[in-house]
Amino acid sequence: MSTTGDRREIVIVGGGIIGCCSAYYLTRHPSFDPSRHSVTLIEASEIAGGASGKAGGLLALWAYPSNIVPLSYKLHADLAKEHNGKDRWGYREVNCGQLIARGRPLSDKKEAGGGGSKSSVSLQKRSADALGKLKSARVPQDLDWIEPELMRGYESMSDTGETAQVHPYLFTTSIAKLAEEKGAKIVLGSVDDIGYSEDAVQSVTYTDKKTGETKNIPATDVVVAAGPWTRTVLPEAPISATRAHSVVIRPVRPVSAYTLFTNIEIPANFDPTKPSRPTVANPEIYARPDDTVYACGEGDQTVPLPKTSAEVEVDQARCQEIIDQVGSISDGLRDGEICARQACYLPNVASARGGPLVGHAGAKGLYLAAGHTCWGIQNAPGTGKLISEFVFDGQAKSAKIGSLDPRNYL
Ligand SMILES: Cc1cc2nc3c(=O)[nH]c(=O)nc-3n(C[C@H](O)[C@H](O)[C@H](O)COP(=O)(O)OP(=O)(O)OC[C@H]3O[C@@H](n4cnc5c(N)ncnc54)[C@H](O)[C@@H]3O)c2cc1C
Repeated sequence: MSTTGDRREIVIVGGGIIGCCSAYYLTRHPSFDPSRHSVTLIEASEIAGGASGKAGGLLALWAYPSNIVPLSYKLHADLAKEHNGKDRWGYREVNCGQLIARGRPLSDKKEAGGGGSKSSVSLQKRSADALGKLKSARVPQDLDWIEPELMRGYESMSDTGETAQVHPYLFTTSIAKLAEEKGAKIVLGSVDDIGYSEDAVQSVTYTDKKTGETKNIPATDVVVAAGPWTRTVLPEAPISATRAHSVVIRPVRPVSAYTLFTNIEIPANFDPTKPSRPTVANPEIYARPDDTVYACGEGDQTVPLPKTSAEVEVDQARCQEIIDQVGSISDGLRDGEICARQACYLPNVASARGGPLVGHAGAKGLYLAAGHTCWGIQNAPGTGKLISEFVFDGQAKSAKIGSLDPRNYL
């Protein structure tokens, strides 16, 4: 359904990594002509204000789904090369492994948590494919920021060229700027409604963030990329939300480039103020090139998704748990400066086949790009490129993604 010669008014709902990459690749598509085509991205709160600014940032060739991963992994490398991603958003190859360690009891920290919470849910990064990568290895010599006497084992999850990382907030905001440079318009406002005429999209109604005014703009194409909030504009989409907490620590000295999936044995009475039994904690730890370390805990469903990313409730006790867990195996992290305690919502797909859902969503000109679970940073460039193909070519060209067709669910 290429419409060469026709005007196209393309509206993207959501300024997370998926919406921003869609805007970027739409403005780079060979058919994009700014004199006839407009790309307007509408973001309710702040670009990368949700999970896209608070994720870990691991990219892995063994991530899922396998029909997007290789394309997206390569596009990340291409973007970094073309736009100096190394300096702009911390793109680099990174070691990745599973670390088994024994945590030390807290000694000098006052507000402590006591091992894992009962209401936690796994974020599911360690899939069967990921676990298939596990290879026993000696503890690498440069993994010297974990106390050696506490390490019980290390298994590598990456061969050369299989794992890399970006700083998700810097990546998303940079890609938004690059899209703007080629003509995309970014508007802060909350989309309330998509208007239809017979079987085609026709307009988008939103509330302007600054003025509170209700505005209506014409649309020939609407890309819904609202992450965990997708159901507010497409109520029938099977997207759910899981909250997850994370912290950013500046360790006392810079650390080597590792992403660690951990199994930390937390001893009984880890925190002397809270009697407890031995347990196991699984924080993920990401060393970053800006000399900080990001760590996240498991997810929880205890607080429903708020209206906007700005209203996400941060449970300080959950953040402290992560800080204590990672501090229990590393002096550099225990004595470091805490730079951020934060939370966000992961977009899940409530179906056995898993996510994401990418492509035509029923009405003519309506597309869905959501439900990226714990791999949205990895899979965003691939998704954005495929969305640009759906819009300008009528179909996905760079990958076979029939299994992700939203119409299977809507
Ligand atoms: C703790 C944690 C760690 C993670 N680590 C990794 C990792 O290492 N690697 C990886 O690949 N992935 C990781 N992820 C997953 C990744 O963060 C998500 O899959 C990805 O950020 C989802 O992006 P999104 O753009 O779909 O959603 P979001 O980032 O949530 O963006 C959606 C945007 O839409 C906006 N919006 C919502 N409703 C409206 C509306 N009505 N009108 C206008 N705007 C609206 C929101 O304000 C928001 O900005 C992690 C996630 C979590 C929670």
